[in-house]
Amino acid sequence: TKPHQYRGRFAPSPTGPLHFGSLVTALASYLEAKSRNGQWLVRIEDLDPLREPPEATGQILNSLDAHGLFPDEPVLFQSRRHAAYQAATEQLLSKGFAYRCSCSRKQLEAHNGRHPLHCREGGSKNVNQPFAIRFALKNEICHWQDQLLGPQTQVVRAEIDDPVIVRKEGFFAYQLAVEVDDIEQGITDVVRGSDLLDMTAQQIQVYRALGAKPPRWLHIPVIVNEQGQKLSKQNHAPALDNLTPVKNLYSALVALNQQPPGFLQHGSVDDLLQWGCTHWNRRAVHLTSR
Ligand code: GLU
Repeated sequence: TKPHQYRGRFAPSPTGPLHFGSLVTALASYLEAKSRNGQWLVRIEDLDPLREPPEATGQILNSLDAHGLFPDEPVLFQSRRHAAYQAATEQLLSKGFAYRCSCSRKQLEAHNGRHPLHCREGGSKNVNQPFAIRFALKNEICHWQDQLLGPQTQVVRAEIDDPVIVRKEGFFAYQLAVEVDDIEQGITDVVRGSDLLDMTAQQIQVYRALGAKPPRWLHIPVIVNEQGQKLSKQNHAPALDNLTPVKNLYSALVALNQQPPGFLQHGSVDDLLQWGCTHWNRRAVHLTSR
């Protein structure tokens, strides 16, 4: 890898098959990478077996293939990266960026998000209790730049917002794995749905705590259904029909407000992706729906 080369990724959590909303995110990250002569990677964020039907990963990868979205490197699976997350957790603990906490959600709520046992200061020493590990945020008014939405300001509240990075059940959490893997994969640019916008300032702190420079960010509007709800498995978004990839990709370009010419509806997947790479205009993506 050349040091300044663009490296982007699509990083779905396999809670169900790919639906139209996730195709739009995948396509945006793909086109953004390809139009910048960059590399585009796929990472399966399969950290939570209780929420992930075992067939979902295969369904997602099949759908991406059917839509011509082939990654430039082998797919990375978070389920195989526990050693790296363990090492990162130990590093954060030893540097005081993380702490053990056995508080329940109820206890925290009763104390306005403060830890009654002063876990952050090492107060919670009861090893018989199951504990989570939390990242210790710094109080901060964080200013960062979104490549689509422009300058962002987010308030980070130490202690109250401290995210769990290892759950009491022993699972590593998204809030840790996403940065560890973006760093490992040399990701320079994150393109993702704006449902994750509010997480960004916290994640920037985690990158820095791990000794890394945060990537650039681009948040695209989340696709909503007729009721204004995010398309998601919880809202019963239908799985993509892999037999109509051209139609799906065309609709995704329309959703991204790229104004694809009608003749592309009668062409091939490759024609469509080619056109998309050549004409990709991130400024055209709508700013309204969030
Ligand atoms: N795995 C996350 C999700 O599916 C996305 C992670 C990211 O793009 O930062 O919501």
